[in-house]
Amino acid sequence: PGVPDLEALQHEDVARLLPVPGAESDKYRRGVVGVVAGSERYPGAAVLAVTGALRGGAGAVRYVGAGGDAVLAAHPETLVHPWPPRKAGRVQAWVVGPGLGEEAGAREAVAEVLASDVPVLVDADGLRGLDPAVVRGRGAPTLLTPHAGEAAALLSVPREEVEAGRLAAVRELADRFGATVLLKGSTTLVHGGAGRPVRVNPTGTSWLATAGSGDVLSGLAGSLLAAGLPPVDAASCAAYLHGLAARRASSGTAPVTATEVAGALRGAWQDVTAP
Ligand code: AMP
Ligand code: MG
Repeated sequence: PGVPDLEALQHEDVARLLPVPGAESDKYRRGVVGVVAGSERYPGAAVLAVTGALRGGAGAVRYVGAGGDAVLAAHPETLVHPWPPRKAGRVQAWVVGPGLGEEAGAREAVAEVLASDVPVLVDADGLRGLDPAVVRGRGAPTLLTPHAGEAAALLSVPREEVEAGRLAAVRELADRFGATVLLKGSTTLVHGGAGRPVRVNPTGTSWLATAGSGDVLSGLAGSLLAAGLPPVDAASCAAYLHGLAARRASSGTAPVTATEVAGALRGAWQDVTAP
């Protein structure tokens, strides 16, 4: 009683929640995000996730994975570290999974970051075979960002069942994993667990249904986690900016690439925070 089932994050809410570096800030205080993504097969996912992370307000991005050369070519400001993730320096949040594939080491990398004591965002290949007991047993928050197919696999139900009952699915996932869940799709839902309303993202656009756009979202949300936002706020602000960026890049009328969505994040951020 008293708690609505659904809520929509408004422009003003996002403006208030987005991190602003204070005069005393330095790059470490702004938050360092670690990205474990990409593989020999999918180096582009590494670039897109890092791009999202660089646009998300963290002070620095550490990258660990097989896409280091591509990441550095695209973003010389990235701190690239050798495998495995535990050898990278201290981070305030991890993003693990985009384009990780099923190469040797992918599962160990997921296990390693889940064993850390900082918030972890798990997406894409990182969600494969994810054990609810491991996530529940963590000492820090976990944010899962599945699309309908990934959610269906996590719940061991057909994809159609998730699509027909997205609200039930996001609640069941949050409950089962003891995690915050961002369920992607035509209306992206964010749920932080029992007793809380499900947040509905109002900015989505079907132009976002394009390869790699989810990788940008993961990096962005992970960066906001590293900057200190609680998982529900990191996830919902990221979804909000991501949708706005896609609308900006497409002008509502033309197809966009994931790279263009990432490029439009800066303008979306300005739209939200402009007085
Ligand atoms: P992924 O499936 O990981 O590539 O992520 C796809 C991204 O596009 C997510 O941010 C989804 O919410 C978004 N998306 C996919 N399909 C639609 C759609 N029909 N309408 C709006 N957004 C969508
Ligand atoms: Mg994806």
